[in-house]
Amino acid sequence: MDNKDFYHRLPKVELHAHINGSISEETIKKLLKRKGREEEISNVRFDKKQTEPLEDSFKRLKLMQTLSDCAEDIYIITCDVIQEFAADNVKYLELRSTPREITATGLSRELYVEAVLKAIKDTSYLDIIVRFLLSIDRRLGVDIALTTMKLAERYRDISNGVVIGIDFSGDPKVGDARDYLPVFNEAHNRGLKLSLHLAEVPAPEETKHILQDLGARTGRIGHGTCLQPECGGNETLVNMVLQYRIPLELCLTSNVKGQTVPNYDQHQFQFWYNKNHPCIIGTDDKGMFDTTLSEEYAIAARTFKLDRQSVWTLSLASIDAIFADDVVKQTLRNKWHELKPTLNIT
Ligand SMILES: [Zn+2]
Repeated sequence: MDNKDFYHRLPKVELHAHINGSISEETIKKLLKRKGREEEISNVRFDKKQTEPLEDSFKRLKLMQTLSDCAEDIYIITCDVIQEFAADNVKYLELRSTPREITATGLSRELYVEAVLKAIKDTSYLDIIVRFLLSIDRRLGVDIALTTMKLAERYRDISNGVVIGIDFSGDPKVGDARDYLPVFNEAHNRGLKLSLHLAEVPAPEETKHILQDLGARTGRIGHGTCLQPECGGNETLVNMVLQYRIPLELCLTSNVKGQTVPNYDQHQFQFWYNKNHPCIIGTDDKGMFDTTLSEEYAIAARTFKLDRQSVWTLSLASIDAIFADDVVKQTLRNKWHELKPTLNIT
């Protein structure tokens, strides 16, 4: 079996996927057509090179953001994103998105969440289990964060646990994560899981406070690019992450194309993987960065010299870090073991 086939067939878990950054070229074209804006298709360049200029990625993201302004768009996008992950042999997917309100189209935060949940329900025939994290955007302030947290709790109960927690994201240079601690604590008290984008840029004080306060209640960390001393962090941060064993969601191409990491070789994956710390490979924004989870596994293996057995173990171990319950975890582990003989791992 060639490498491409192996990484494609490998069963995978995706825990770091923002819905609006995950929109594929096909879906962009579909939505532009639907909106009568076909002439804009030629404005976005898609090429498979891993070294495209950052402005091309942002151009795509900007366009993507103008394509999801009503509930119907969100529904179409979410259905397509789930189908694409399923086609890439992702067996368990946690999507995240910020519920938005757009008065002009009558979109409310509730309708936004309901459109995503309907898409998850309508694609349930696929061989993929999907959960949803509501994103708190650090640019929008604590009041909206609180509203989002309460919305997550309400829809968790209505959706029978499909809404499973909270994501904290947005421009890491805006605002202070410490302001959101009461919301994180309250979310945890209400049984919601937490995945926090932390230390994407050097912010050692902010990161220290969050980790000290939440400890292992920080369910997972997104990126954690700047935890290590040589990246603007320090030993205290590294030790806390190790001590609480907080899994890291690591998105290689996103970090390299997004220029928070200079190149694949210097990605923080190696540091944490060598410490036997839980590392989960993710795509972040597969549309914006033009990648797939299979490609991300292939890049990690190539860069850090992982053989097929190690890649399989890495994928299997990701199941430990999912937010769904033990029954789902066991179902997935069984599936992995069933599929292993088809992968020709020697
Ligand atoms: Zn992210």
